[in-house]
Amino acid sequence: MKKIGLFLSLLLGPALPALAQNDAAACGVVGAAIVVYLLFLLFAVAVGVTIVVIIFKYIKKDAISRGDSPGKAWFALLGLIGLLIYLLTRPQGNLMPCPHCRANRMQGLPRCPHCGNP
Ligand SMILES: [Zn+2]
Repeated sequence: MKKIGLFLSLLLGPALPALAQNDAAACGVVGAAIVVYLLFLLFAVAVGVTIVVIIFKYIKKDAISRGDSPGKAWFALLGLIGLLIYLLTRPQGNLMPCPHCRANRMQGLPRCPHCGNP
């Protein structure tokens, strides 16, 4: 709570002397600032979760296409660093569409990881 109070005093610094003369107005402004702060936090968390989910889906799809363990998708919890680790450690090779199921598979795999056809 001390940090929120410090943040609000920095945010509202210039307005505080005027607000101090009217308790109801000060209370309303501080309440609105808290709501805006919480909405900003919620937005930041939502953006972070969305980025992690997108990275998770990308790694899972790419790992399956390369015949690698889809469990590597958990690198996504590390965010962009996890994506970088995956990109550096994944099996290297070109992805080509499978002639049977049209899903991407890495060149040189004995069987398609999606449909199992050679
Ligand atoms: Zn296939």
